[in-house]
This record gives sequence, structure tokens and C-alpha cells, in this order.
Amino acid sequence: MSGQAPGGAVPILLVEDDEATRTALRRDLSARGFDVEEAADGRNALRRWEARRPALVLLDLGLPDMDGVVVLRRIRRDATTPVVILSARDAEAAKIEALESGADDYVTKPFSTGELQARIRAVLRRASGPAADAGGRIAVGALVMDPLAHRVTIRGEVVPLTPREFEILAVFLAHQGRLVTSGRLLRAVWGQAYQGEHHYVHVHVSKLRRKIAAADPAGELRDLVTAEPGVGYRVRAAETPPG
Ligand code: CA
Repeated sequence: MSGQAPGGAVPILLVEDDEATRTALRRDLSARGFDVEEAADGRNALRRWEARRPALVLLDLGLPDMDGVVVLRRIRRDATTPVVILSARDAEAAKIEALESGADDYVTKPFSTGELQARIRAVLRRASGPAADAGGRIAVGALVMDPLAHRVTIRGEVVPLTPREFEILAVFLAHQGRLVTSGRLLRAVWGQAYQGEHHYVHVHVSKLRRKIAAADPAGELRDLVTAEPGVGYRVRAAETPPG
């Protein structure tokens, strides 16, 4: 785990070749209590990442010397450090490739610092501790998944899920505060043979969400899983554990 700087500021590595964007981001994030280190290309990004092991990496995909995905894969070879992609609006395929290579989330340029900061806080919460209790149960608000009993309850009431819906929900709960692409969900739940059959995912996720909504009349879990059009699904971040 990365240590925090002496002042308590969270160390972030900002990888962006556009100097104006980089400077503005560093200024805004520093003002919000982050300790920002900058890199303008992939080679420097990897050098600084090795030297510093920051708590989080903000990564532009279009770098002058190498594809940002190469930087991401190198980081993922030996660390689970959260990585948030800074994506251009027309780079949909590259964004999905990055998410499937282990990026945690993305923001699309131009984005507000508030939006970026919300993403940063969410992925840092995800990285901050185990989501399951000693019995392997995962709680999100009023929803509890018990993988041993293969049962999901909301306020103690069993939600009647099919085995496939249960598996889908398990993938979502393992990705709190992150994006799950449709392709990743498809491979995890249906296997390689179903590559490209994204409508399966859509149909089953819709049924799962309807069952959760029916058992949650107060709507507390409404934003547990939200569709990210053309990409997949965004899973709500875990609550900060008490204590
Ligand atoms: Ca760029």
C-alpha cells in the first residue's frame, strides 16, 4: 500500500502530455489536498511510478512516446493501484480497451475538477479496504450478499435471483466504485464463447435491477448499478467502513 505524504496529502501521479491541461489539473488538485506529481510521457510516467508508488494514477491514453494502455499494463503487472483514464471524446474503443486492461474508471475531456475529484474519491474508497466481512458476506446499504448460502437479502428479505443474476451481482459487488464493461461481465458470467453477445448482459442486468428495485421500495439502492451507455455499468462506491 502506498504511504501518504507527511502532510496527509494523497500522492497522485498525473500523466498528461498537454501542458496546459496538466498545469491546470495540478493546480486544481493541489488546492483540493492532493500531492500531485507530473509526467508528460509514458517513459517518465513509469519512472516516477516506480520511484514513488503513488496512491492513484491519472492517465491520458494519447501520449507522445507510447500508448497509455502500455503504461497501464506495466502498472498492472505488479500493482492494483487505482488508475483513472483521462479520455478524449472520440476515443471510445481505446477507453474500453483500457477498462478491460484494468483501469478503474475514466473521465471524458473536457471534465470538471469536481467530476474528476468524485471519481478519484470513489476509486480510493474502493482501494481502502476489504468489502466482505469475516463470513465472506458483502453488504451494500440494506443489501447483503452471502456467497456461501448463495443468497441475497434486502432488509432481511430474500431477493429471488436466478443463479446467473446472482453471478452478475457478485461481479458488480466485486467492482464497487468502478466501471464494469459489458465484455468483462459477459466473459465472467457466460464465458469466452459468448463474446459479442452483449444483449445477453443487458437483458439479465435489467431483470436483476428490477428485482432489486422491487425489494427496495425506498429506492435506497437505485444507484447501486447504473448503465454507462456504450461501455457497460458503473457500480456505486462502497460506504467508508466505520472506525
Ligand atoms: Ca494526450
